[in-house]
Amino acid sequence: MGDSEYVFYNPFDSMSFTYDRCFLCGQALEDSSTDEHVFPKWLLHKYNLWDKIIYLINRTELPYRLMKIPCCSTCNNEYLSSLENEIKNAVEQGYDEFIKLDELKIFQWIAKIFYGILFRELSLLVERKDPSLGQITTPEMLERYKTLYVFLQSVRMPVDFNGTNPWSIFIVRCHSYDDDRAFDYRDGITTQTFTIRVGEIGVIACLEDSGVQKEIFSDYFKQFEGIRLHPIQFNELSAKVTYKGYLKNRTPSYICILPSKNHEKLSVMTSPVQGLSNAPIFDDWDQRIYAKFLEHHWKNWGLSFDSIFVEPDLVVTFLKNDDGSVMAIDKNTNHFKGASNDLKIIDEKY
Ligand SMILES: [Zn+2]
Repeated sequence: MGDSEYVFYNPFDSMSFTYDRCFLCGQALEDSSTDEHVFPKWLLHKYNLWDKIIYLINRTELPYRLMKIPCCSTCNNEYLSSLENEIKNAVEQGYDEFIKLDELKIFQWIAKIFYGILFRELSLLVERKDPSLGQITTPEMLERYKTLYVFLQSVRMPVDFNGTNPWSIFIVRCHSYDDDRAFDYRDGITTQTFTIRVGEIGVIACLEDSGVQKEIFSDYFKQFEGIRLHPIQFNELSAKVTYKGYLKNRTPSYICILPSKNHEKLSVMTSPVQGLSNAPIFDDWDQRIYAKFLEHHWKNWGLSFDSIFVEPDLVVTFLKNDDGSVMAIDKNTNHFKGASNDLKIIDEKY
């Protein structure tokens, strides 16, 4: 362990998303033998994803097996391997074990995948000098990705979040399957939301919202404890969190104090969202726009916008019964009718 142990590397300053440096520490690489899979190999194997396609921005399609990012052997074999082992063991033991994990570990695992996808996308765009690069690199977004990158450094150096987690993570129990239905993944590049369902574990996260959804909606999520959710219900929760993230009208602000000497922690201070201004934290919820998000999140279920949204502002839900109790849906139900077919169960706003 030399003096350079915690040298801080920032690829955003020069937009260098090339494959000759480790994505996590910036060390120059000789070859690609230690490249890191964005979606870990155990996950690809367990859910048979190697040849499945992931859709990147700009309609680029890549099989999961090619989603790799440059990584040095230290970051790969020491820091990331131990993180993967911990997550893998918890996933294999199921929901009850997974919820016992340190939330920081879950965040790191999610942030690595999210950042890995972003890295892959930025590298493709920089390579092609693609004009659509502009769409995802407004200075404000770039600033936010930079912050995420700093948080991700917690994988390889001690980081003190000063008591306030900058993220919101919700975990729900879902039906488990032993076929293609066992895995679901979705991310929101602008809202920095991340949704993954692996076996019976469903995770919905906002990576950089100053923890505000966690603070406000923990009670909302409590009502689903002990209930196995159907994938369509998981997708619905994910649409709510994503749209809510989209409505947040404040950019989170953080002060990151970089370690200046060895063994000093990277320190992150999150500004309290509540205290920043008198304006509401979230813009008004618009059911029509929410229904658009829902349509997108439900695209596997064949529900059109017209069967989801009912004028003037009603939206179908599969989460609640008329009496407000949580709806139980059999795991093998795979056909859902929309509002036009007498299934008028109308949601409250989240
Ligand atoms: Zn490295």
